[in-house]
Amino acid sequence: MAKITAVRCIRTRHDGSWVIVKVMTDQDGLYGIGSASDIYQPGAVVSIIEELLAPVLIGRDAGQIEDLWQTMYTSGYWRNGSTLHTAMGGIDMALWDIKGKEAGMPVYQLLGGAVRSAVPCYAHANGATYEQLEEEVHAFQEQGFGVIRCQLGGYGGGGFVTPQGTSKFPPASVFDEASYIMAIPDMFEKLRVRFGMNLGFTHDVHEHLTPSGAVSLSRALDPYRLFFVEDLLPSEHTGWYRRVKETSTTPQAVGELFVHPQEWLPLVQERLIDFVRMRVSKAGGMTPCRKIAAICEAFGVRTAWQEGGENDPVNQIAAAHLDMAIMSFGVQEVNHFRSEEKEAFPGHAVLEHGHLKLNDKPGLGIDIDEHKAAALVKDQGSLAAYHHPYKLDRKPDGTLIRP
Ligand code: MG
Repeated sequence: MAKITAVRCIRTRHDGSWVIVKVMTDQDGLYGIGSASDIYQPGAVVSIIEELLAPVLIGRDAGQIEDLWQTMYTSGYWRNGSTLHTAMGGIDMALWDIKGKEAGMPVYQLLGGAVRSAVPCYAHANGATYEQLEEEVHAFQEQGFGVIRCQLGGYGGGGFVTPQGTSKFPPASVFDEASYIMAIPDMFEKLRVRFGMNLGFTHDVHEHLTPSGAVSLSRALDPYRLFFVEDLLPSEHTGWYRRVKETSTTPQAVGELFVHPQEWLPLVQERLIDFVRMRVSKAGGMTPCRKIAAICEAFGVRTAWQEGGENDPVNQIAAAHLDMAIMSFGVQEVNHFRSEEKEAFPGHAVLEHGHLKLNDKPGLGIDIDEHKAAALVKDQGSLAAYHHPYKLDRKPDGTLIRP
């Protein structure tokens, strides 16, 4: 039995936006690592880990993962918040890492063993113009990706219009729903003519639409047989997915913002969506996600665990271990890390021919080189593509759009 002796938070990447949890034990050299990154609130996550969770974990048997998860879940009484779940998710991954090391097996073996050879991933193709997008799609197809997300510029791209007149609000991109609902099917029309019907395509709406706009766009996309369309609506309006499903055959991927079980459970049990999208850390770690995957299997819903460009290699490898072992797997979103970032995480999953591959080391198979990780804190390059705080768009009249 390994007793937990300490829970440390290591902050890395620019300004310490990656939070890596290290759970230490009383066994010589035995520890686990997990991802508790939150680009917007890293300090809040660290304080939850250090002030709320570490005190209830220290002295406990690291092998009692389920009990420790339930203990963390309720130890602050109020629960199902994104920062609490992120903190718990990091610790939970570290506990699975420890259990794998104790067992001498990769974590996916503990979850029932591999049901696939590697993890199929989807790529992010993006172009300010259709021509640029087509070039990127072609490049990813050549790299071996069977599913490619297609965006005309950033989220909402294809729907941005020139602002008219002066605004009483801070500067923002102006999004016009009618323009967008015409532009995206037109984009897929061209892509299908160019690439045929066999390549898997997805598109992320990032919640920019009104409910009726969501129904219209989903129907308009039906002829192009997408792999999925993602987040047509904000999580506050999931009740509209019944209408979407009644009128459109386009598969729906939903839920990268979900943290509460009641957000995804009705959608899954009523078969109103086709893919769940939670980020493993933000759902609370591998312990809840393997249960979510099992429930999805029973209802014919598949997983597409979320990654964001701002996320770290530890969350990605935790997702990949789940992906290797679950029958309800659909596809995995993938991150691209710079070489300095990969060097700080020896054992990271390797992306080859559109698939993530794991090593066979015990546990998650990934470690953190703390010296190299410390050097990343001052690294400016890693933040190039991210807005902080979150970039908000507005309607032509100035109204904010939920992202
Ligand atoms: Mg998304």
